[in-house]
Amino acid sequence: MADFVIAPPEQVAVPVAGGGVFPVRRIFCVGRNYAAHAREMGSDPNREPPFFFTKPADALVPGGQDTPYPSVTANLHHEMELVVAIGQGGADVSPGDALALVFGYAAGLDLTRRDLQDEAKATHRPWDMSKGFDASAPIGEIVPAAQAGHPAEGAITLKVNGQIRQSGDLSDQIWPVPDVIATLSKLVRLAPGDLIFTGTPDGVGMLNRGDILEGAIAGVGVVRTRIV
Ligand code: MN
Repeated sequence: MADFVIAPPEQVAVPVAGGGVFPVRRIFCVGRNYAAHAREMGSDPNREPPFFFTKPADALVPGGQDTPYPSVTANLHHEMELVVAIGQGGADVSPGDALALVFGYAAGLDLTRRDLQDEAKATHRPWDMSKGFDASAPIGEIVPAAQAGHPAEGAITLKVNGQIRQSGDLSDQIWPVPDVIATLSKLVRLAPGDLIFTGTPDGVGMLNRGDILEGAIAGVGVVRTRIV
């Protein structure tokens, strides 16, 4: 046991469907991965390579807990996403080998301070404080690929207060999961415990305190939270 001079941080973990918990190391997120969402954000959805940003592991909100409305924003947005849980590490992985790294999948929300992100884009500054704030990543249970397989198509939807806000299909991803993993593994060595949020379909929009979010991905599961 190391001679820690303060208490070490608690290990962040996400419940796994069927039992156990998945220990989280890092969170990577794909910037734009559905053509209709790229268009609604004002960019051209050609197949330029995926780009990535990160959130700290302790930004996760697992287990259907409430999500506190963040400070320093007046425009909190929802982005409903398929999350990949990496079970085996690897660098410079080919798309053909990429799925062997996957432990499982979850439904997640990439919450965004859209006003701060718009300002960061306009001033060519980093996105960290618009994306990587506390409680910015609600996530549902992880379903092992051993049970769910590797979903490449199927509905991805988000309801807010019972009304559909986002409705897409995993097959609309510009970069499917194997390409996302292959590209990311050229930038960093992926490690067991890493999560990858794979981008959102169109329909992103504003959230308010009291909103109840229920996201679902066919064959994967649900993510639920309430903004408080
Ligand atoms: Mn996103």
